[in-house]
Amino acid sequence: MFEYVAGAVVDSEAELTVIDKKIGDGDHGTNMALGFREVRKELRAKEFDSVNEVFHCVGMTLLDTMGGASGVLFGTLFISGIVGLTPLKAIDLAALAKIFQKSLTALKKRGKARVGDKTMVDAVEPAVAALLEAAAAGQPLAQGLAAGAAGARAGMEYTKQCVARFGRAKSFGQASLGLEDAGAVSVSIIFRAMAQWVQ
Ligand code: ADP
Ligand code: MG
Ligand code: MG
Repeated sequence: MFEYVAGAVVDSEAELTVIDKKIGDGDHGTNMALGFREVRKELRAKEFDSVNEVFHCVGMTLLDTMGGASGVLFGTLFISGIVGLTPLKAIDLAALAKIFQKSLTALKKRGKARVGDKTMVDAVEPAVAALLEAAAAGQPLAQGLAAGAAGARAGMEYTKQCVARFGRAKSFGQASLGLEDAGAVSVSIIFRAMAQWVQ
């Protein structure tokens, strides 16, 4: 699944570059493509004994290769959820929802951004809420991930209404209104790819 996600992110490089150029420094596409190209390579080359190891590999690779603030934040999105978790041989919706819930908590702690600050958090939080709700309703993985992707997309759209309070976009102030946050777009791409893969 994450190999497919990596491919989707790499294919979105140009789109992400355009977005980060408007209210950032234009490197988000390059950063994400760099990180996820390496993720794809690592996932193809390695053997994994648990789901936890897969998450760890994705997160560590992003942390090591992307650098900068977003490397830490996207690394956190994949690593923090499995810290201290008993090794899983398989994944279901409930486990996936819990993992990303923990990651969201860590992401907010690390970056200090909350919903409405026009960051990736705006997309991760509704995605996690949708995953948890679908899991609680006993929905199958595919349906839950579709709901998660819809949540991420809605959160990404919501960033258009927000004035940036973090990252480089902050210096654009009111001028950031009407434009989506690049990191939120990436999160939306990631969750959409996960949903597509399990369809
Ligand atoms: P940089 O801002 O260093 O150029 P990128 O362009 O790769 O890095 O990533 C920018 C994205 O990182 C933003 O669009 C935003 O979603 C996310 N981001 C930046 N700072 C924070 C933060 N404090 N908390 C959460 N997300 C953040
Ligand atoms: Mg940037
Ligand atoms: Mg930069």
